[in-house]
Amino acid sequence: PRSMALAAAAQRVALEFEYSAQDVNRGVYEFIREMDEGLSKQGATMSQIPTYVTAVPNGTEKGLYMAVDLGGTNFRVCSIQLHGNSTFSLTQSKVAIPKELMVAKTSRELFAFLAKQIQKFLQQHHGEHYNAHVERRASVFGPPHDEQIFSLGFTFSFPVQQSGINKGTLIRWTKGFDIHDTIGKDVCALLQTEIDRLGLPVRVAALVNDTVGTLMARSYTSPGKTGTLLGAIFGTGTNGAYVEKLDKVTKLGKGADVDNSTGEMIINSEWGSFDNHLSVLPDTPYDHSLDAESNNPGIQMFEKRISGMFLGEILRRALMSLVDDKSVPLFSDEHSNQNDVHSTTNIDSDSPLRKQWGLDTSFLSITSGDSSAGLKVTRQTLDNDYGISAASAEDAEAVRLIAAAIGKRAARLSAVAIAAVVISTGKLGDPQDIATTSNTEVNEDDVVDVGVDGSLVEFYPNFEEYIREALREIPEIGAQGEKRIRIGIAKDGSGVGAALIALVADKAM
Ligand code: ADP
Repeated sequence: PRSMALAAAAQRVALEFEYSAQDVNRGVYEFIREMDEGLSKQGATMSQIPTYVTAVPNGTEKGLYMAVDLGGTNFRVCSIQLHGNSTFSLTQSKVAIPKELMVAKTSRELFAFLAKQIQKFLQQHHGEHYNAHVERRASVFGPPHDEQIFSLGFTFSFPVQQSGINKGTLIRWTKGFDIHDTIGKDVCALLQTEIDRLGLPVRVAALVNDTVGTLMARSYTSPGKTGTLLGAIFGTGTNGAYVEKLDKVTKLGKGADVDNSTGEMIINSEWGSFDNHLSVLPDTPYDHSLDAESNNPGIQMFEKRISGMFLGEILRRALMSLVDDKSVPLFSDEHSNQNDVHSTTNIDSDSPLRKQWGLDTSFLSITSGDSSAGLKVTRQTLDNDYGISAASAEDAEAVRLIAAAIGKRAARLSAVAIAAVVISTGKLGDPQDIATTSNTEVNEDDVVDVGVDGSLVEFYPNFEEYIREALREIPEIGAQGEKRIRIGIAKDGSGVGAALIALVADKAM
């Protein structure tokens, strides 16, 4: 009776996370509507930011480029040799950003530090080139015009208003940075000024968003000759960048500084804010309270149901709802009075399970993928990491059931975004053609390539298979269309991806 009551309660909670085929289809419809809205006007729910990058690579690109990445805690500098056969070599250095520079009085203090790191990197890894440059600068004739200058892609993961491939002004700092004087300034120009002060042979050629980097990296390294359509991140947060027809980006207007040669432009969707109004997204009591008690209620609602930053917290809230329900014997002490199931509990009073953000999303992967006898791995993790001693096999089974439901819902929601991009860009062709495609191997020309990155898609068990299951439930894609969608991991978006954008920027000059 005890174990049956627990199993029934866990089933009930797991069912709250069901996201049906009908839900998926309604989601796709609304997603496409919001994509279109974002392309036509500023200030839409989904920002659909034009990146000024007008082509994806095909793997034949060659050359030596630099990339830097200012994300949160670290500053990464790298050089990337593109070999022109879909492969590359990467050299990189990483340095923690001193706390005092994150809140410096002037932008110059921070950007001078960044330029200094670039100088150190050049001295260490490209010493010959660097020394030759210094000598030439010192000569009475000055540097020759044909001197090789490194083009650099600048990955800057803060909100910017981009107005050209290497122009963008900071809207606001996030993640603990706060330098008032940077707001409204062009961050590429700030970096270039400090690079020039040191006389480095480096040109800041492109401002890069990490999602766009993922798309570019995947397109360069992906097998086959068709370019990649979409780059998507399912990590701490979620976002996607995709190739759009330039005519559809109507908000750009006539006067925009755009290269028209390909008729396309990569769009950074900022899809984490899809359906902030909750017209189609699921909203369990756990989603609801997570949002209400977050520091940005009502914002990034799609992301709050999908990404690594939030899934652990959803599970924690669902589990605590059972713990707090006295009629459900989750984590209860088996030796306590049978008639009073909650006379004692096995959860420590200072268990992380009792604290907001106390449960890490990696736990969902551990328990969903647990095939050990009696779910021993789950029980050990509960004991070691979460202060829950002597969890029973039934407890662990209840935890696993709910965790799996949350993970599966996240994957099915991810499928909504992927499907919406595939359908709205018309990449599968006429629905009639899809239905009549023969059942044999997919022809390379018919592949629609999608690059993904992030711990969730990389480590959550069967994440891709759950995405695919949902894709097949969408009539515009179906079983035939789903087979043509190739999903592959894209690594190092902020390195090789940024280098590729710098290369594209050079070509457009
Ligand atoms: P980022 O998106 O910041 O570049 P990641 O892709 O590594 O970095 O994502 C980090 C997020 O993934 C964190 O929220 C973390 O909780 C979550 N995470 C880490 N390991 C796993 C795992 N094995 N399974 C699922 N999520 C994980």
